Amino acid sequence: MTEPRRIALMPGDGIGPEVMAAAAEVLAALDRQTPLGLTWDWLDWPSTDWHRQHGEMMPADALTRVQAYDALLMGALGDPGPLTDAERYCLPDSVSLAPLLQFRKGLDLWACERPARLLPGAPQYLADPRAAEVDMLVIRENSEGEYVNQGGRLHRGSVDEVATQLEVFTRRATERLIRHGFARARERLAARGQGSRDFHCANKGRAAAQVCLITKRNAQPYWGDLYTEVFAEVAAEFPEIGVHHELVDAACMKFVQCPWTFDVVVASNLHGDILTDLAAVLSGGLGLAPSCNINPDSRAMPALFEPTHGSAPDIAGQGLANPAAMLLTTALMLDWVGCAQAAERLRLAVAKDLVTTAGQQRTCRDVTAGVIAALH
Ligand code: ATP
Ligand code: MG
Repeated sequence: MTEPRRIALMPGDGIGPEVMAAAAEVLAALDRQTPLGLTWDWLDWPSTDWHRQHGEMMPADALTRVQAYDALLMGALGDPGPLTDAERYCLPDSVSLAPLLQFRKGLDLWACERPARLLPGAPQYLADPRAAEVDMLVIRENSEGEYVNQGGRLHRGSVDEVATQLEVFTRRATERLIRHGFARARERLAARGQGSRDFHCANKGRAAAQVCLITKRNAQPYWGDLYTEVFAEVAAEFPEIGVHHELVDAACMKFVQCPWTFDVVVASNLHGDILTDLAAVLSGGLGLAPSCNINPDSRAMPALFEPTHGSAPDIAGQGLANPAAMLLTTALMLDWVGCAQAAERLRLAVAKDLVTTAGQQRTCRDVTAGVIAALH
């Protein structure tokens, strides 16, 4: 008999505990229908409450302790206060790093995947009916680039002050990101059946699957050229996948003008960060946008699953948070731990609940109960 896979549930702050309670209820309901072969533990860190009691967001040995799990499911984290320079992104040894960044770095979760798909019944912000066809996967580089946090400020406060901010792009991280993008495009193509979807790309004609590379090559040629060269090399190994290159500014425009033309999008840390907020709106808003941080090469470390939204302090404690983003994130987690059928049942239930209640004002409880009722 295989060992049950272990999941850590980390509710966090703000609406995190509310949406995590929904996820736990839904997991229990799925498990009652067909045993998932999972066990889960609740962790009250990382969180601002833990910070209040202990002066840090999580225990000093948190990174070691979470390695006992196959996946970490996180609600949301709030802001415990400003970080010192030493606490920022690039110092994996620091115990007081912002926990999300500490997990991403310390567990080597170098890819952030954010699917954006407009489910029927979800709010559609674009008037063009083709916006209903949005179905893209944005893969964001999660380990380097613009967020290495190297630089400084000289002559602080004087009229001659200069701030520098270094960006670092390695061939190793670039190649694994792009290769993963093509691998996902190939999987998506297989899943929907070749030719079943007609992507109009402004590149070499049309392809049923496509990877779009995002850079700002015209203004930032060093990393832009590195990305472009590696992209061409990797693309040669995937002849059935169409290729497309957009400058990030043009990509923002096209995400609004013709988002249905994108399939897989690979982007640097900063560009991916920005584009995925835009993509969240295309899928109906932050209440519907799932996200995960993974290391596609290795299962040795747990992957981290958290919705795109944050702790939403403006609606916390009122029961108003939409748990759908958390539930779709839970589905990504179920896929990761080998429960693909349960993941699909959950996604279908979220979709069914959404379409049967479109336009209604609903509480977190309403959505949770609706999704559980729609599970089968
Ligand atoms: P944080 O600093 O933790 O990111 P924030 O103030 O940036 O918090 P977000 O969580 O990013 O807030 O949310 C931005 C907006 O989207 C808020 O107005 C919030 O109410 C709304 N929002 C976010 N998540 C949800 C959700 N699950 N359901 C409903 N509204 C949400
Ligand atoms: Mg936010």
